[in-house]
Amino acid sequence: MNEARADNWETIACPVCDGQEFKPLFEKQGEPFVECKGCSLVLINPRPVFSEVMHTYTDDYSRTYAKKADKKIRRSRRRVNLLAKQIRHRGRWLDVGCSAGFVVQAANEAGFEGWGVDVEPWGVRYGSETLGLANLYAGMLEDQHFPDRHFQAISLYDVIEHVPDLNRLVSELARLLAPDGRIDIITPDIGHWRVTRPLSEWKEIKPSEHLYYFSAQTLGRLFERQGLAVIKKRLSLKSSMKLVVAHGDH
Ligand SMILES: [Zn+2]
Repeated sequence: MNEARADNWETIACPVCDGQEFKPLFEKQGEPFVECKGCSLVLINPRPVFSEVMHTYTDDYSRTYAKKADKKIRRSRRRVNLLAKQIRHRGRWLDVGCSAGFVVQAANEAGFEGWGVDVEPWGVRYGSETLGLANLYAGMLEDQHFPDRHFQAISLYDVIEHVPDLNRLVSELARLLAPDGRIDIITPDIGHWRVTRPLSEWKEIKPSEHLYYFSAQTLGRLFERQGLAVIKKRLSLKSSMKLVVAHGDH
């Protein structure tokens, strides 16, 4: 996975509270899992640097994803339809980490104009060529330079826990979201009652891949820093959380 990992590590301040003091929890595959003393965010720190983390997004990742296409499109439709009920105007829907674009397709079906972006080009190629989807972009969201307030809905499904520069991402989301728009987030929930103990055995603990382990509190605080607010938390039977986020003055 990460060939040269030992050579390139970075130590970060806590992305939620800027804290610099961390309590060690455990190590997994040589990577230190720690808890921020300021806000209790759990993260990998120090961690392999950005370019190496990107290596875990191999072509295999999207090929496997595309193979389960039927299941993925059904799940995408359920997710899109649930958020769609809370959105008054059908505008553009951006799926961040879109892979082959199943959410984009579901958004189109629900009357939105679906857009997608993914750091890994294979899924985007598959979605454009095989699914015939327009508006799919390969690369970082922040490098696309989409216009201000361009999207009525933005979804990040199993994405935010992977993103190296969280505050850069969230401030970009705040810039892109329409005034009455909604952001839909699904991410593992370290505060969930089904999280396995010891924590090191929880299935979501993934060195190099899942860089942060949020609770509703820590994720809410991250969004508040950029003027956004969690307006809804849905119960999940699995150890994940489903949050809807809006502008703070929504
Ligand atoms: Zn913190």
